[in-house]
Amino acid sequence: RGSRNGILAPFHGNQCCGSKIHYKSLSFVASAPIRSSSFSVINHDDISHFKNILGEKGVIEDQEKLDDANTDWMKKYKGSSKLMLQPRTTLQVSKILEHCNSRCLAVVPQGGNTGLVGGSVPVFDEVIINLSSMSNIVSFDKFSGILVCEAGCILENLISFLDNEGFTMPLDLGAKGSCQIGGNVSTNAGGLRLIRYGSLHGSVLGLEVVLANGTVLDMLGTLRKDNTGYDLKHLFIGSEGSLGIVTKVSILTPPKLASVNVVFLACEDYTSCLKLLSEAKRKLGEIVSAFEFLDINAMDLVLKHLDGVRDPLPSSKHNFYVLLETIGSTESHDREKLEAFLVHLIEIGLVSDGVLAQDINQASSFWKIREGITEALMKAGAVYKYDFSLPPDKIYDLVQETRRCLRGTEANVVAYGHLGDGNLHLNISTRRYDDNVLSKLEPFIYEWTSKHRGSISAEHGLGLMKADKIHYSKSSQTVQLMGSIKKLVDPNGILNPYKVLP
Ligand code: FAD
Repeated sequence: RGSRNGILAPFHGNQCCGSKIHYKSLSFVASAPIRSSSFSVINHDDISHFKNILGEKGVIEDQEKLDDANTDWMKKYKGSSKLMLQPRTTLQVSKILEHCNSRCLAVVPQGGNTGLVGGSVPVFDEVIINLSSMSNIVSFDKFSGILVCEAGCILENLISFLDNEGFTMPLDLGAKGSCQIGGNVSTNAGGLRLIRYGSLHGSVLGLEVVLANGTVLDMLGTLRKDNTGYDLKHLFIGSEGSLGIVTKVSILTPPKLASVNVVFLACEDYTSCLKLLSEAKRKLGEIVSAFEFLDINAMDLVLKHLDGVRDPLPSSKHNFYVLLETIGSTESHDREKLEAFLVHLIEIGLVSDGVLAQDINQASSFWKIREGITEALMKAGAVYKYDFSLPPDKIYDLVQETRRCLRGTEANVVAYGHLGDGNLHLNISTRRYDDNVLSKLEPFIYEWTSKHRGSISAEHGLGLMKADKIHYSKSSQTVQLMGSIKKLVDPNGILNPYKVLP
């Protein structure tokens, strides 16, 4: 038994503090967790011990810094941790966890805090272990393209580093300026180039991970092939900090290719977007590197809320837009292929308009539209964020069903996503959080996805938001086995409690 303190304070909600229920939780009341009484509360001895390990600088008790670290990117989840630790070495992470485990102090591993499911912030008073100070590149092999780095490296810094070396990061996403490679691995982030380079389960070659009891697991291989027993690193990719803290990553990076082209296309219906995808795969083949879609509601939202964004196809409005990127080795070959492809699309009537970026500035202005949707949604007010994998032909049916379901409310249903990967980001934007909207959305939206054999989390993970929804996508036997694995590697349950598993 425990007390329901410090639970989620949604945007407009009441602040959490003390031991009473101080929240007006809209999406979480039914499943709001209770602080486990098996966890201890930090005391002065703990803090002295952490200062011995980290020095004064690595132990943060400053309220302003703690407020930031307690609050997620969407400002939707808020914990009440009194302590953030910033280790600089794997050994320090190990000593911290050894102590937390022996004292039964719950912890939350934190990277760039850009996660979208409430996984990166405490629910109650968990100790925040923030990896930002572990941001060194350990090695880079120019022959193989294998990069080894610490978990706290910011994704954008790695992209720049590799760019200078003539290589590319196989992962890119809108949060690259803040998210860290350790967070990316722990969420198995998908992002914008998955269609080309595959998931992190393919490109991550090795990991160094610290377990709850402080044991350092050295799995930091740099081999492409290694079939010696169970490949345990995969357990940690996508485990959202619930099984261990990732401290180092070894990742295979492809060579940077010189020819990059970006096209912005308009389609009048969703079926045309799907046909366009299939044509692109067939006619452009190996050079396709991104295939993103947004509907008119997403486009309008970006144009309304983001400064400096212009409609690339201003002559008329269209129901759907597709951003198609190609990356190849020969400019003339790629341009020729792409131009022939665009002519073919217009001839067969699949697209109603389109524009090929003439230079890097135009290309990045197209990307700004796609990457700016998350930020535009935040500016528009409250947002109910969903992230589904579905058979591609079912994706827009769910959007239409959701609109039907919300008829009569002021909700704006916004759809976009990584269409090339069958990944829909479905966002319901309202001026403020509203119980009525939520009760129309859930459980309907999860049941619909489950019925069509989709996943209720394509790439964002489960975090706190969907820990109790896992059954919509995984059988009870699978969830049970996950629970047994969690018990085995973290018997006291100190790592990111209340998240991932019900
Ligand atoms: P955090 O948010 O700090 O943490 C996320 C989870 O990982 C938490 O459960 C945390 O406990 C755990 N964790 C973090 N670091 C470690 C570590 N070193 N060891 C163990 N556990 C750890 N996601 C996508 O997949 N694709 C997208 O295209 C995408 N676009 C986004 C765009 C925007 C604008 C934003 C704000 C977010 C987007 N996201 C996307 C979600 C998010 O950025 C990713 O999930 C990202 O990988 C999280 O990295 P982070 O360092 O911020 O991790």
